[in-house]
Amino acid sequence: MKKSFFAIAMSSVLLASSCAKTAQRDVNDDFDYKVDRFADIEVLRYKVPDFDSLTVNQKALVYYLTEAALWGRDILWDQNYVNNLAIRDLLEGVYTNYKGDKENADFKAFETYIKQVWFGNGIHHHYSTDKFIPTFSREFFTEQIAELPEGMIPANADELVEVIFNPGIAAKRVNQAAGQDLIATSANNFYESGVTQNEVEKYYASIKKADDSTPISYGLNTRIRKADGKIVEEPYRLGGLYGDAIAHIVENLDSASNYAENNAQRAIIRSLIDFYTTGDLKTFDEYSILWAEDTDSQVDFINGFIESYGDPLGMKGSWESIVNFKNIPASERTETLSANAQWFEDNSPVDSIFKKKEVKGVSAKVITAAILAGDAYPSTPIGINLPNANWIRAAHGSKSVTLENITQAYDAASHGNGFNEEFVIDAETSQLLDDYLFITDNLHTDLHECLGHGSGRLLPGVDPDALKVHGSTIEEARADLFALYYLADPKLVEIGLLDNPEAYKAEYYKYILNGLMTQLMRIEPGKDVEEAHMRNRKLIAEWAYEHGKDANVIELINRDGKTFVKINDYEALRGLFGKLLAEIQRIRSTGDYEAATNLVETYAVKVDPSLHKEILDRYAGLDIAPYKGFVNPVYTPVRDENGRITDVTISYPENYVEQMLRYSKNYSGIKH
Ligand code: ZN
Repeated sequence: MKKSFFAIAMSSVLLASSCAKTAQRDVNDDFDYKVDRFADIEVLRYKVPDFDSLTVNQKALVYYLTEAALWGRDILWDQNYVNNLAIRDLLEGVYTNYKGDKENADFKAFETYIKQVWFGNGIHHHYSTDKFIPTFSREFFTEQIAELPEGMIPANADELVEVIFNPGIAAKRVNQAAGQDLIATSANNFYESGVTQNEVEKYYASIKKADDSTPISYGLNTRIRKADGKIVEEPYRLGGLYGDAIAHIVENLDSASNYAENNAQRAIIRSLIDFYTTGDLKTFDEYSILWAEDTDSQVDFINGFIESYGDPLGMKGSWESIVNFKNIPASERTETLSANAQWFEDNSPVDSIFKKKEVKGVSAKVITAAILAGDAYPSTPIGINLPNANWIRAAHGSKSVTLENITQAYDAASHGNGFNEEFVIDAETSQLLDDYLFITDNLHTDLHECLGHGSGRLLPGVDPDALKVHGSTIEEARADLFALYYLADPKLVEIGLLDNPEAYKAEYYKYILNGLMTQLMRIEPGKDVEEAHMRNRKLIAEWAYEHGKDANVIELINRDGKTFVKINDYEALRGLFGKLLAEIQRIRSTGDYEAATNLVETYAVKVDPSLHKEILDRYAGLDIAPYKGFVNPVYTPVRDENGRITDVTISYPENYVEQMLRYSKNYSGIKH
């Protein structure tokens, strides 16, 4: 599970904290964070501090893991939509062969479009999952195609042009609209066209074993198609679907295993290779257990079919990889939380029958990302908690990470963007955010990932997928509420993570402001809130606003036609968070689908159109991109005459276009 970045509210108000345990900003930082800006996107660059402090072996390990990461890129593109790779080839062909005037309006619009497609890993927006609407003319595009050298014009060029320009084709990658056939109406490529939701649900119901206490992650690594009218699963594996790309991943994992830091890590890599070789989900569970239990290695990685946000049924894993190494000083913070995990579980406001008697192996660390790939690129989460299988988490623990060099880059890039002046109610609150938002936001991520997701238990016999389409929203709300509730607890001051008992107010203010208002800048006029993390934040903020109305806990103040959030009673707000946490945990523990639906539909989906318009207008004056993402650094191995790596250098030479074109050229792993 990932905690997405609070794109705006957080990045724009972060400032150095006075707390010694968090990262301090380098005031003389002349690193060039800003890379590109187009449509609703800003592309940044992140630093990999301390890469040079790794040993040669660790650097070589990182190098091969980053290669294994980059080779998976096309898997994700193909999972996202069946024509994505062919369309990318066509767009890149036109882009690199263009000989005309680069100031031409059609060309400029085309350039924006190709940048959007790269960012979305396909023709759908990475977040809204709506298909991009081209603003260049169809004539311009077909003329450019006609001018391509022979051999570069695909046989189905007309069909691809129609897909790009006809808004009725593949309109949405992940459709969550209640009452519709979510599979038939979603354009993703996890299910062959023609397959219905009903057929898929029946199929999985028929193969899931009853009373299985260690269920595999059904369907995680397969594409569904129909053969002779029957549902069949095609596994992603060596020799199977995506076998070519997987062969490159395996080759690099194999090289990486030669540089493993220890035997446990070598066994993890071998086990992942086994999984890619067989496609057997039992092997994936064995791998996940080894991975969750390795807390000694400094270098770590995610590589595979992991998160299921791209599937409206929440089963199919989108390919992703993040290679990272532990930030040892900053990890002191999360280690302190982990060491107290049982205390947090025991003292939460949740009904004791839904608590874990024993919280096992909650491991948490602050990491430095070395490469972002697949579904974690260019847009990336700032916190991750894996593995996702509930029974593995319960029996073997889970690993939780905060990507601090990423939050640091967001922070550094956001200075002076005018957000506070526009949206924060008064100077006193702005000061509070300046002083404490960086540390409390990082702590919120830590609490969410290393305690929130790991807390609580399902009652025996409850299907982990019982909340269906609302599962992700409820799960994220559970982790967020756990974090919010405890941010205000004196325990954090007692264990030395905060130096001021009032610090939590910074995160509370930002959370409510974001949930009620500012996150709406990511939504197009007239649209609903759909993404699980956004729904979760809206659910929590709207619920707290509504249930605190009688006591005037949160107030919306109108000043010269502008709406401001005012929090009158922070302690009461904490009480509301605790109350909602208890209810959300009950819903999760008992699989109460009806209550989940009711909460989501009442608070998390519908947008007030006039407030929405006001927010979009206010943002328009600031020119802050609603979404941010990153280009990766470049790693170059230095080898001796036997080919053995003697060093790996890191550099940051590429802009966004250069990186995308290089990845397409060098890591094109799937025939299409
Ligand atoms: Zn989460």
